[in-house]
Amino acid sequence: RAKRSGKSCVATYEPQLHRDALRRLELRSALGGALERGELTLVYQPVVDLVDAEPIGVEALLRWHHPPVGTVPPDAFVPLAEETGAIVPIGLWVLHEATAWLSGQWPAGGRPWSVSVNVSPVQLQPRLVGQVEAALQSSALAPERLVVEVTEQALMRQRSWDVVRDLKRLGVRIAIDDFGTGYSSLAYLSELAVDQLKIDRSFIASLGNGERTEAVPRAVIELARSLGLSVVAEGIETDAQWQRLLELGCRVGQGYRFARPMPPGELADLVDGPLASRPGTGATQAEVS
Ligand code: C2E
Ligand code: MG
Ligand code: MG
Ligand code: MG
Repeated sequence: RAKRSGKSCVATYEPQLHRDALRRLELRSALGGALERGELTLVYQPVVDLVDAEPIGVEALLRWHHPPVGTVPPDAFVPLAEETGAIVPIGLWVLHEATAWLSGQWPAGGRPWSVSVNVSPVQLQPRLVGQVEAALQSSALAPERLVVEVTEQALMRQRSWDVVRDLKRLGVRIAIDDFGTGYSSLAYLSELAVDQLKIDRSFIASLGNGERTEAVPRAVIELARSLGLSVVAEGIETDAQWQRLLELGCRVGQGYRFARPMPPGELADLVDGPLASRPGTGATQAEVS
């Protein structure tokens, strides 16, 4: 129909565009009070040692339960919150919530997990340093158990490099999230003592499909090795991807193959033991599916 007449094309699509814009506007304004209304929660996705599939940490991920709409995914509301500035108080809440939760878990014995918190480029301002320090103090969490995830995009501004340096001085760890998708120069890698590169899910998805598709993850793993950084693979969904990452020398990962992000109550059961059995070892396929 769109082909026959430009006019009907407009008539067909405009209401949809209009609805989308309206929805964004509604979400945008609703987001303002989401924190106060208690509509935001954190879910946690285990980060595992790829050798034995045992959890060594978690990544905190925001969820917004907005009654008229349902659950709004972060990709839909974090950008809006960045536009309005609401991400600043929300991000502060995330920091306190995640550190407080982790420090209340597993006080003794076992491997102490780390918690990774995503920080928006908008939050990467000098005042963030004091906010992180306050969260560490009120939670009594050891600084090295907090991993602050920043994106390459945030590091395009050199002013944010000083913020990262000051965060490092607190003793927290810094991860570069979605590494390889950000178009930024890699200069910061030699200037900033970051700790971890997270290989974006898009590069993991095609692993095991041949040489060319492996070039990027292979290069990132090599880069991390030569810089002495740890490397974390995101979005591992299959045994083939898991196996290949091990062969390439990647030691840490997260993905649906091991566990989806889950509410804190469900995580308690996972503290001990592997989340999956190694591909090829056969034994426990049943418990996996
Ligand atoms: P991210 O930090 O790269 O988080 C990883 C995303 O990949 C999460 O999506 C996670 O649920 C998803 N994921 C993990 N394993 C798999 C897998 O095996 N397969 C697939 N298909 N997906 C997997 P989520 O929770 O929807 O979050 C999306 C993005 O929203 C995050 O990407 C992060 O950039 C942002 N975000 C989430 N929470 C926060 C927050 O507290 N603050 C800020 N500033 N951004 C956040
Ligand atoms: Mg992340
Ligand atoms: Mg990521
Ligand atoms: Mg991502």
